[in-house]
Amino acid sequence: MNFSATHPRRASVGVMVGNVMVGGGHPVVVQSMTNTDTADAEGTARQVAELARAGSELVRITVDREESAAAVPRIRDRLAQMGMSVPLVGDFHYNGHLLLSQFPACAEALDKYRINPGNVGFKEKQDRNFAQMIEIAIRHGKPVRIGVNWGSLDQSLLTKLMDENHASPQPVEARSVMHEAVVQSGLLSAARAEELGLARNKIIISAKCSEVQDLIAVYRLLATRSDHALHLGLTEAGMGSKGIVASTAALAVLLQEGIGDTIRISLTPEPGGDRTREVIVAQEILQTMGLRAFAPMVIACPGCGRTTSTVFQELAQDIQNHVRSRMPEWRAQYPGFETLQLAVMGCIVNGPGESKHADIGISLPGTGELPAAPVYVDGQKVKTLRGENIAAQFKDIVETYVRERWGRGGRSAHHG
Ligand code: SF4
Repeated sequence: MNFSATHPRRASVGVMVGNVMVGGGHPVVVQSMTNTDTADAEGTARQVAELARAGSELVRITVDREESAAAVPRIRDRLAQMGMSVPLVGDFHYNGHLLLSQFPACAEALDKYRINPGNVGFKEKQDRNFAQMIEIAIRHGKPVRIGVNWGSLDQSLLTKLMDENHASPQPVEARSVMHEAVVQSGLLSAARAEELGLARNKIIISAKCSEVQDLIAVYRLLATRSDHALHLGLTEAGMGSKGIVASTAALAVLLQEGIGDTIRISLTPEPGGDRTREVIVAQEILQTMGLRAFAPMVIACPGCGRTTSTVFQELAQDIQNHVRSRMPEWRAQYPGFETLQLAVMGCIVNGPGESKHADIGISLPGTGELPAAPVYVDGQKVKTLRGENIAAQFKDIVETYVRERWGRGGRSAHHG
């Protein structure tokens, strides 16, 4: 796969969040959110660190009450002790204006504030509370995300648009009015923030929905009507494969159209499940689409009646684990290795062909085939492995390839 190919991206105003640039033509940024009680500074810092180590480039934490706001500077300090500088985003609803005013150390320790315009208060308080948060962001030099959510849409705006639609000679479907309300909520709030003095390059917009088609429709509208950087995510995507499939279906369409500057996959963790899964899924979406490379990919065939042995499944798993375990060292020594593609195939039908397309491929013997496994490097057959220790021999070939291609003075050092 050619990761250097520039995928056409929608032009957006870049926003610096801590030490990470979002939008402005920069690579799509992966973010995630903790599910710890933020008031538990130690537990939250630990989970932020886990998410960051998994590859989350921004981490959002909920700031819902005084104890949470008081804990934010301690979380920042604890992360600094761990040597981690991942930007922290504070998620505010209802009382954000109070917490940010009463806890200036929290306002300072955060790298971005997420404000949901549907959850900042009602009537005249809505404007006042929103303005208060924007003024604090300006004072501390922080960017904000105007984070509209389908489930907590500004009801006064929705009612106004519904009434206008009803009175129109050509009324549209209620769902289209909802889309318009979500989009307008984001754009009007962003315009209001700019009127209050927040620079355009300090504003990111999101407009999350829980249905795939709604999300696609809303972001297409947003993308044509604004050049603000966009945070993309399907909200309440769900558990397990449903959450992954729904998020991928929605985000893939939009990312392919160049829409989205930062993404989050909102998976509901299974009981006892690993929170970092949402980070890995986000990375895999970007990598399988050829937008970014995070880790070497192992392509394996699904297996079928032509291979009764589990050898190829075990080898694929073994190689995947080996590659992940080698990543910290490779990252330090072999910049660029993330684009490595390996293929582990079960028999001669697709084995040699698929192996030739990968950087390194191995075609294991299927049922009735000779016990020999040809290995292909850069499309050329280089040797045939036999015997008990095929896995170890294959790992040696991978190691040599990574060193020669991405090591100091290696091929990629000369060819870029
Ligand atoms: S490569 Fe062979 S074993 Fe694997 S799915 Fe294809 S035919 Fe089946």
